Amino acid sequence: MINDVVIAGAGPNGLMLACELGLAGLRPIVLERLPQPSTEPRANGLVGQVVRALDRRGLYERLSGSEEPPVPVPGYVFGALPLDLSTLEDNPIHLLPVPQVRIAQVLAERAVELGAEIRYGHGLVDLEQDDEAVTATIAGPDGSYRIRARYLVGADGGRSVTRKLSGIGFPGVSRDDSVSRTVTAYPPAAWVDPATGTLDVPGYGVIPPFLHHRTERGLFVFAPFPSREPLVTTLEWEKPEAETDPMTLAEMRESIKRVLGVDMPLEPPKGDGPPTLRRLTGGNTRVAERFRDRRVLLVGDAAHVHSSIGGPGLNLGLQDTVNLGWKLAAELRGQAPAGLLDTYETERRPAAERVVMHTQAQSTLIAPGSAVTALRELFGELLRDPANVKRVAEMMAGADLRYDMGVRDAHPLVGRWAPDLTLRTATGTVRLAELARSGRPMLLDLTEDASLGQAVSADRIDIVTARADGPEPPATALLLRPDCYVAWASAAARPDAAELDGLRAAVRRWFG
Ligand SMILES: Cc1cc2nc3c(=O)[nH]c(=O)nc-3n(C[C@H](O)[C@H](O)[C@H](O)COP(=O)(O)OP(=O)(O)OC[C@H]3O[C@@H](n4cnc5c(N)ncnc54)[C@H](O)[C@@H]3O)c2cc1C
Repeated sequence: MINDVVIAGAGPNGLMLACELGLAGLRPIVLERLPQPSTEPRANGLVGQVVRALDRRGLYERLSGSEEPPVPVPGYVFGALPLDLSTLEDNPIHLLPVPQVRIAQVLAERAVELGAEIRYGHGLVDLEQDDEAVTATIAGPDGSYRIRARYLVGADGGRSVTRKLSGIGFPGVSRDDSVSRTVTAYPPAAWVDPATGTLDVPGYGVIPPFLHHRTERGLFVFAPFPSREPLVTTLEWEKPEAETDPMTLAEMRESIKRVLGVDMPLEPPKGDGPPTLRRLTGGNTRVAERFRDRRVLLVGDAAHVHSSIGGPGLNLGLQDTVNLGWKLAAELRGQAPAGLLDTYETERRPAAERVVMHTQAQSTLIAPGSAVTALRELFGELLRDPANVKRVAEMMAGADLRYDMGVRDAHPLVGRWAPDLTLRTATGTVRLAELARSGRPMLLDLTEDASLGQAVSADRIDIVTARADGPEPPATALLLRPDCYVAWASAAARPDAAELDGLRAAVRRWFG
């Protein structure tokens, strides 16, 4: 028997891909070599366009516990420099402060609801490809076995076995000149403003919460989460000794003394959960040579790793999976136009390269030394200009991408991620994000005579006729791919014959 898709790795990206494939009617098998879901504390939340992308799959509600749509945040940081987002129109920075363990749990539940099978304790150990399928060898609790699938996706993290078995290189740089330490711990209560979480450290001064705070000797972050134990983090530039002792609160206190120059007593966490006591040395910045080798594809950390500064990892990885899922499903159903699957890499590699660029730039901006202090002064000046803030915010959000839709002189929205719209339809008022939850292509017809539906076949595309509720929308008609990128758009009240030809060409190009 040949399965459709096997996914190696039940981290957030493997699970999200399983959800996307499930939405498209496939039932992937997800292999996870750990015997149960990982409890390793990693991401503290999601940052950027991914928050709204999850809203467009109905997952934001589940993760935030709120039925309200996501709203942007008034401020963020770039390389420990403040970004004032409060005055921006279309502020693209949305945050979802949910720990990675919970994100993976919600995605696993959704993937299973949609028909995926998750096999914990089953690790991919070998793979071979022929013209028809991939044969994967799996080490399971009852021994090893083989499974055949038309495609295998490696979502097995930065040390991806899939990538190595496929002979795909992972060029980039590894550094060993920094040590980052993170603990769950309480600084003295008298130092913390209970209303804002701001720390007032005797002998040092005020440190705002959640933001990276750079000194000439390192970086300090205090993150007093409202419903979780607070996290304290330091980053120091030092050639680390081969430290093998487990991380302790005392080691953290010593590190804070070096970074801030003052002693900060730390109380251990109060809850029952396992405390975070983490020491990470160095870091890697690498992008896979190829994201695809015939029937094998890579997503998430298997395809790219970089510093976690600013929290871009899951914004990048989860949107890889939303890009890949519908294309892989179309390929498996025999409905994909030629070359569709290759656009996964042509579209997502530039996204990865931008993250590699801005995380390296940010890591440079937080490094010690007077030359960096000078560079920060210059950057700080530039970031007082709202146009620069907008540009940096869009880059961090992953909202500055424009995919090549193969259309010349296109409407400005073509290739961009569709804006949030509120629409009046025959059945009531609905947000575009809610309409997108089917994961199907959509033709949104806001024209005067609502006649666009006649131009395309409705069996593979949801045709929605509506009026915009609120400000005039930037287009009268939009053809959206399942990942909500705009494949075609018109600004005409009644698109003419040439525009309708363009619409039909876009339908053929993306949906066959
Ligand atoms: C300290 C830290 C803080 C971070 N903070 C943030 C943040 O705030 N925001 C953010 O967006 N990102 C953050 N990141 C990055 C984020 O954690 C990663 O981008 C994310 O884990 C990548 O998900 P993934 O599913 O690609 O890989 P992983 O989460 O690594 O999952 C891969 C899975 O594959 C499994 N596996 C491995 N080999 C095999 C095999 N052979 N067969 C089967 N299964 C296998 C592994 O057990 C694992 O469960 C942080 C990372 C770190 C380390």
